[in-house]
Amino acid sequence: MNIDNFSDVIKYCRFCFMCRHLSGIGNVTFTEADTPRVRASMIYGATLRPETLTNEDLIRTMYRSDLSGACRRNCVHHFDEVGLTLAYRADIVEKDAAPEAIKAIAANLEGKPEWTVSGEGKVAYVADKYSIEAGSADAFAKLASGYQTVKDGCCGKGLYVLGFRAAAKNVAEKFVKVLADTKAETIVVSNPAIYDMLVNTCPELGIAVPAKVMHTTEYLAGVTGKNLGDIYYLESDFLRNYNNDYTFPKAVLKANGANLKPFGTNDEESYSCAEGAVVLDKIEPELIEKLAKYIEARADHPESDVIAVASPYTKVQLKKYTSLNVKTVEELLAGI
Ligand code: SF4
Repeated sequence: MNIDNFSDVIKYCRFCFMCRHLSGIGNVTFTEADTPRVRASMIYGATLRPETLTNEDLIRTMYRSDLSGACRRNCVHHFDEVGLTLAYRADIVEKDAAPEAIKAIAANLEGKPEWTVSGEGKVAYVADKYSIEAGSADAFAKLASGYQTVKDGCCGKGLYVLGFRAAAKNVAEKFVKVLADTKAETIVVSNPAIYDMLVNTCPELGIAVPAKVMHTTEYLAGVTGKNLGDIYYLESDFLRNYNNDYTFPKAVLKANGANLKPFGTNDEESYSCAEGAVVLDKIEPELIEKLAKYIEARADHPESDVIAVASPYTKVQLKKYTSLNVKTVEELLAGI
């Protein structure tokens, strides 16, 4: 089973409560089950009694993790509690034990339309639905020119996160083929989930990505001249916790006069509305609302603070559930 590759995580996390304060879902539900320690304990129990691996409560708990990676990043030994959760989900799918609601979400992702390509240039910009809805794609258009736009399809990350690895590979291969056919030398994405898909998940699935991949904040690193002032920047799970503290979002904000103010009670916690879980809003949307309200409650001046995000997903969720003044980094750079 896939979880067998995480025996060290199971062994160590089940006796450790050091990162419980960084458990996003645990912080809004006040349930011990939603921490790396108890998830590991439950998986350990299931290894002793394999018939309990498909227990309904266990499955539900493992599918509602926010997968922020905050616990793994701040763990002294960086135990991969995210990897254990993803491995369990893959095992459940391989046993055909995924709940029908999860299967329906996966089928919907798999059935998305094909990617379309428009424009010309040596850069391909991926305009997924979150980047369009959050305004990142329009802002990018104000800041860049001479690029191809790739839009409308599925990259496979949601399927991978749900445990449907074969389907994820199938969809990702098609996505990468579309990107390869553009002959672009650089692929630019606003959505950090797609960045992580191309940089980490595709190689893990054996798929070679044919060009350099950049988040928009890296591609736009040379933009200067704004005087942004006080900004509260909410980190992206994928860029910070999955990609070695990717530096470009904060760097380009600072280069444009941003005075980055500390948000919340610490700089370790995830304030992304479960960006790492990609599709938790389709599984248990009420949890996303709780996470958004949790973030809103930590704003110094909720009505006036400018909140910057590198993740269009996070902006969409915060706009849906709060009155916070949230802008993507691209919007701030474009003066929108
Ligand atoms: S990830 Fe690290 S800090 Fe968190 S429970 Fe596991 S061993 Fe403890």
